[in-house]
Amino acid sequence: MNNKELLNCPCPEDQVMMVEYGYPHPESWDGVSEIKCLECGKRVGRWSGRVLEGDDYENRFGRNLKPTLK
Ligand SMILES: [Zn+2]
Repeated sequence: MNNKELLNCPCPEDQVMMVEYGYPHPESWDGVSEIKCLECGKRVGRWSGRVLEGDDYENRFGRNLKPTLK
């Protein structure tokens, strides 16, 4: 499965962006943590495939998965 399929939105493929969390993010990691669409704003966790909304974020390696805050 490629990143566009993981994101699963209808927007053009060139709108797909890899997001890294840098210091001081609590889950900072030197690599991609989430996949984001620049056109519709949809965000998906790189490991969990979970849809991320608001201030939710992907935990490193998808560990300690929490339900999406609503
Ligand atoms: Zn999109």
